[in-house]
Amino acid sequence: MSDTIKNCSKCGGAMKDGDIRIDIPASNGAMSAMNPMSTFGNMQMGQPSTVYPYWEEKTGKKGFLGRETTAILNIKTYRCTLCGFIEFYVKQ
Ligand SMILES: [Zn+2]
Repeated sequence: MSDTIKNCSKCGGAMKDGDIRIDIPASNGAMSAMNPMSTFGNMQMGQPSTVYPYWEEKTGKKGFLGRETTAILNIKTYRCTLCGFIEFYVKQ
């Protein structure tokens, strides 16, 4: 698959490639819920982490214990510089 994605399917504007990612702050949620004292003097606990979503596709084939196997594929994202439309592509 070549890089022929250059124009927005909505408005025809130029597309730029990028990545979808989710940043999870360290001083939030589960960490402080498990240890209420961590908000006092333990601010250095935990590291912020970044999660990159991926595409999980069913292969239609049976694998271990008869379960259907899946293929993990990376998601490529393009954003239109004119209207902001985002398109997702999965490259094999
Ligand atoms: Zn557009």
